[in-house]
Amino acid sequence: MIKLLPTKHLLLIAAISALLALVLIVLPEEETNDSGQISFEANFEVIDQSQLMLHDLQKLTPKNNIPFSNNSEQQLSDTNYEIPAPQALVKKVSPPTFKTQAVEVKSGDSLSKILSKAGISAQDIYKVSQADKKQKTLLQMRPGQEINFTTNEVSGELTHLTLVLNRLDSVTFERNDDKFSRSEASRTPEVNQTYKEAEINSSLFVDGLKAGIDQPLLIELANIFGWDIDFALDIRKGDSLSVLYEEKFLDGEKIGNGNIIAAQFINNGRTYQAIRFQTEKGASYYTPDGLAMRKAFIRTPVDFTRISSKFNPNRLHPIFKTSRPHRGVDYAAASGTPVKAAGDGKVSFAGKQNGYGNVVIIDHGKGYQTLYAHLKGFARGTKRGARVKQGQFIAYVGQTGWATGPHLHYEFRINGTHKNPVTVKLPNDDPMPKKDLQKYLPYAKQVVATLANSHSPTFAQKLASLKD
Ligand SMILES: [Zn+2]
Repeated sequence: MIKLLPTKHLLLIAAISALLALVLIVLPEEETNDSGQISFEANFEVIDQSQLMLHDLQKLTPKNNIPFSNNSEQQLSDTNYEIPAPQALVKKVSPPTFKTQAVEVKSGDSLSKILSKAGISAQDIYKVSQADKKQKTLLQMRPGQEINFTTNEVSGELTHLTLVLNRLDSVTFERNDDKFSRSEASRTPEVNQTYKEAEINSSLFVDGLKAGIDQPLLIELANIFGWDIDFALDIRKGDSLSVLYEEKFLDGEKIGNGNIIAAQFINNGRTYQAIRFQTEKGASYYTPDGLAMRKAFIRTPVDFTRISSKFNPNRLHPIFKTSRPHRGVDYAAASGTPVKAAGDGKVSFAGKQNGYGNVVIIDHGKGYQTLYAHLKGFARGTKRGARVKQGQFIAYVGQTGWATGPHLHYEFRINGTHKNPVTVKLPNDDPMPKKDLQKYLPYAKQVVATLANSHSPTFAQKLASLKD
């Protein structure tokens, strides 16, 4: 068929082919110009030219291409036949250049807001969010996080997106044809052990901070030793604290603290040691012998303002003016203050009882019972037979029954005998299982030795004087 074309047309094809070849030769040189990139404008020009040529060409080329015969015109025919479509031509002449941008997430930002501002098509935004459909991480982006994304400058397509969640974690979306794949990455910080000690002259927090122990660590220390030491009442000038804990580093920079490995507190001449250990039930703190630092009961089941009446087996009753023992302790607190279960157990009574008003009694097993009286009302689920956990809200402070003001009347009974809730020796929480203890004891010995080796001479001296 080619042979049938008029010579004039064949010449024109040859001319266009030559022009195309020129474009192919000239453009790569442009890549090495000052900017090192081909600008969008340049690419558009190429498209325009090629479209023009193709348009002309289509007029000239027969509709049905017939296999070419192996003749002298082969070269010409081949050139004609292989003229690429405009898009493919552009791809060939200018390999895609990629542009990467980093945007900090601001308050009120969303994925689509950030990406559409950067000129990403709604289609690509949809595709990326589809890859995150299950996890919804992109929906939960927070101010201060960073989004990095890369676009193909030629096609405008989004090719890569990373949401940096924090210094350790990120989520990445990578384009594969028309879909995005999602992957998560986490960096592991380097963990070092650090030792600090402090002498308490005003308070745990004041002197702890002075010694360079961060506040969250001090709160944790107060929780670890809080079962044995009342930090508001029991602290004495000259008490001492030492702590071995983890510090996390990333690229040589401290990024935070890890766990408290072990700690020691000298309070009013007594020494307490706590070591962190992981058992099947989770991580907890134990004495070097493997007893739980936690007690089976919290000392005070309510946040109170003052003790309005002490435990007194021979008291004169304030209303009846007769000698009637006060077999509990009264904690004055605002009406409605939540009351906590002192320990794990089962509600054996929740209802009205004459002088007690609304009252809850909890059986804790092993002969332990606690009683909470004058309640305004009960928390949802507090009824006879219900299982409760230590610290769980069970009721609210009130002044029902024989009470002169809002307070919690709290009783602590062991095998039916009333004990003073403020001073009763509280049993330790369940001991460590035997198989854990086998692993724990040699570990604890090692940690205690590490602590001892870290003590300053002053601290070591103080400790030695206590042991004598
Ligand atoms: Zn009372």
